[in-house]
Amino acid sequence: MKKITLIPGDGIGPEVSFSAKRVVDALNLDIDWEVINTGAEIYEKTGDFIPDKLINSINKNKVALKGPITTPIGKGFRSINVRLRKKFDTYANIRPLKTIPGVKSRYNNIDLVVFRENTEGLYIGIEDKVSEDRAEAKKVITRKCCERIGKKAFEYAKINNRKKVTAVHKANILKITDGMFLDTIRRISKEYSEIEYEEKIVDNMCMQLVMYPENYDVIVTSNLYGDILSDLSSGLVGGLGLVPGANIGKDVGIFEAVHGSAPDIAGRFTANPTACILSAAMMLDYIKYKPEGDKIRNSINKVIGEGKTLTKDLGGNSSTQEFTDEIIENLYK
Ligand code: NAD
Repeated sequence: MKKITLIPGDGIGPEVSFSAKRVVDALNLDIDWEVINTGAEIYEKTGDFIPDKLINSINKNKVALKGPITTPIGKGFRSINVRLRKKFDTYANIRPLKTIPGVKSRYNNIDLVVFRENTEGLYIGIEDKVSEDRAEAKKVITRKCCERIGKKAFEYAKINNRKKVTAVHKANILKITDGMFLDTIRRISKEYSEIEYEEKIVDNMCMQLVMYPENYDVIVTSNLYGDILSDLSSGLVGGLGLVPGANIGKDVGIFEAVHGSAPDIAGRFTANPTACILSAAMMLDYIKYKPEGDKIRNSINKVIGEGKTLTKDLGGNSSTQEFTDEIIENLYK
């Protein structure tokens, strides 16, 4: 029996993560769940960012499915999400952005995968208010972290028969930090002569993705640019409700949607659970249940393709539960 840690999160987190759990449970696999809560409420009650119970559970189970967790803006505690990634050294944030046929979008046939470095850069959270009128933040780039995200992206490209890897950076301005990132990825690219390699400055890359997304395939980049580019790219495939993600380390995988806790729609059961359900499908691939992951992806393609049961973000009026019921109904069709 494979045990998985389920972190419901907050905002729409419990709505979408329990939908994903229902879909996985409907496959009748040898899987059991350990549900552990964390988030603002727990922090306020206990003062614990990441309860020991959660750390022990992930250390033991090595695999987690996670709902989004709110982080206060401009004040308050630091991101629990970022801390979890750092704590378990899940260095590769992998975000596939693929058009689901039937979704109304200005773009068709998008098929990108963003590899975002997940443990350093500006996200180390070292900030200083030097005076009332001056604030500073530190960006840390290490050779080791550039190497492992670069290798992960190129290995993925090789195994999955992808044609091109694009390294995204700002080394024209950040010559030392982004310079090290670029230099490392460039060196790794030489070990993969069968894969086309190119480099783009991040501001140009934003325009390129909006105008010519079909020119891109696998993107490898540092933490902040990866965060921004994956949200930008989610707009190309129909929105954040559709884009899954995986945080992968040496021996731990934490699977979660790209989107956040969406406080603007939380509690209404209108959230689209697709991103979280697809994250669960990535999790099944990871624990060697690839055919079952495919069943989930096929069912989602079918339900969205038919266009009868859709959540609000996709132009429908079905609730999170109704949409989830339909996904379950179509798992074996
Ligand atoms: P968000 O991703 O929560 O929401 C952005 C927009 O997309 C909102 O309009 C929202 O309603 C919509 N949206 C997101 N997910 C959706 C879904 N499944 N179905 C339908 N619509 C959806 O981004 P935000 O509002 O900038 O952030 C809210 C909070 O989430 C912040 O505290 C932020 O720090 C946190 N956050 C957490 C994670 C995480 O846990 N990994 C990731 C990103 C943001």
